[in-house]
Amino acid sequence: MDKQNSCLCPLPWIGLEIRADGSRSFCCIANFNFAKEIKSGANGELGSIKQALLKNIKHEACSSCWKLEASGISSRRNKLNSILGDKYKKIEFNITDTFEPTFLDIKVGNGCNQKCLICGPESSSLWFNEYKYFDPSLPLKRNFNLTKHKELLAESIQKAEEIHIAGGEPFLFELELSEFLELSVKSGKSRKQTLLITSNGSIYPAHLIEKVFPHFENVKIHLSADGIGEQFDYQRFPGKWAIFLENYKKLQNTAFFDGICITLSCLNIFYLAEYLSFWDSLSEQKVFINYLFEPAFLSIEKLPKQLIDRVVRHLVQQEFKNMSFNFLISEILQFLDNAENHEKTEVDELVNFLDKHDKYRDLKYETHFPEFASLLKNTWHEKTP
Ligand code: SF4
Repeated sequence: MDKQNSCLCPLPWIGLEIRADGSRSFCCIANFNFAKEIKSGANGELGSIKQALLKNIKHEACSSCWKLEASGISSRRNKLNSILGDKYKKIEFNITDTFEPTFLDIKVGNGCNQKCLICGPESSSLWFNEYKYFDPSLPLKRNFNLTKHKELLAESIQKAEEIHIAGGEPFLFELELSEFLELSVKSGKSRKQTLLITSNGSIYPAHLIEKVFPHFENVKIHLSADGIGEQFDYQRFPGKWAIFLENYKKLQNTAFFDGICITLSCLNIFYLAEYLSFWDSLSEQKVFINYLFEPAFLSIEKLPKQLIDRVVRHLVQQEFKNMSFNFLISEILQFLDNAENHEKTEVDELVNFLDKHDKYRDLKYETHFPEFASLLKNTWHEKTP
């Protein structure tokens, strides 16, 4: 089956995302939830999604991928199609009424020691009080983690070939994670499993690195850094850049570090070239870009045209030693060029959001991002009589 020239994606056939509250999907960015019985999804809505993809129809459950691909950006689907290699060849796409997941995506819990502005209480327990302060009626759970779903995890890990793990901050759960991964080590399955773990870089997981990861076929650790220096500290409050950098350097000396992840939002897009220059100066080989779409007022596709023009002018000023960074910038420029909502400004919502949370946190966006804050406020004043 030709995966490049079709809408095919492996995840509706082999993906299982298990979230910390026990809810499940086949993909973390698909608009889909399994009902209580996973198997029931194989014939129902999941079956129709598979049928649609087989017929080359862009099912709306996967709109996050179609949106990026329409702008010429490599989507999660494109990336998976290329990284799964031989594992991809084993998938029986023509069989649409069974569901045997081998690609496990686990969110270990919402326990986190940072409350990034692009995140929320479902993925960070630290957000709880701040959300409640602004809206005490919100039905939120303070803490949840996967220890309640041990049986489901134990069963799923034995069938998995690829295991992706995120949080909250997964290394805050180092003990639970070790116990869970050791199930696979004991059964010998780990020798044929790939692990990908995304961390905020605040913790160095010594036990996992020394005792557990060496038993897996392949382990990749990605560190999320949406900025550098004081812009990191602001966006990932109360995370500390100095601690991140120290752990980054330690992890780089292991066999398991695989790259830096930057989630692009209105907060940091103007400074992306500076961030890439920094990683270039350290000869970092891999930087991955994620695009934020929700909430809409933080998404770069919603920036008004005059701000996009300023961002573009700033981004094109830099050339990098690492050619893949030049490619990343060209992809982003293409995405901004295709952004649909140039005229519909969401700037007022963004400015109000920053003011509100800055007051609560006793911080100031304009202190750390002076150039873009001034462009933002000028656009807001032009618009607000
Ligand atoms: S949203 Fe994208 S990656 Fe997820 S299942 Fe759909 S096509 Fe695949």
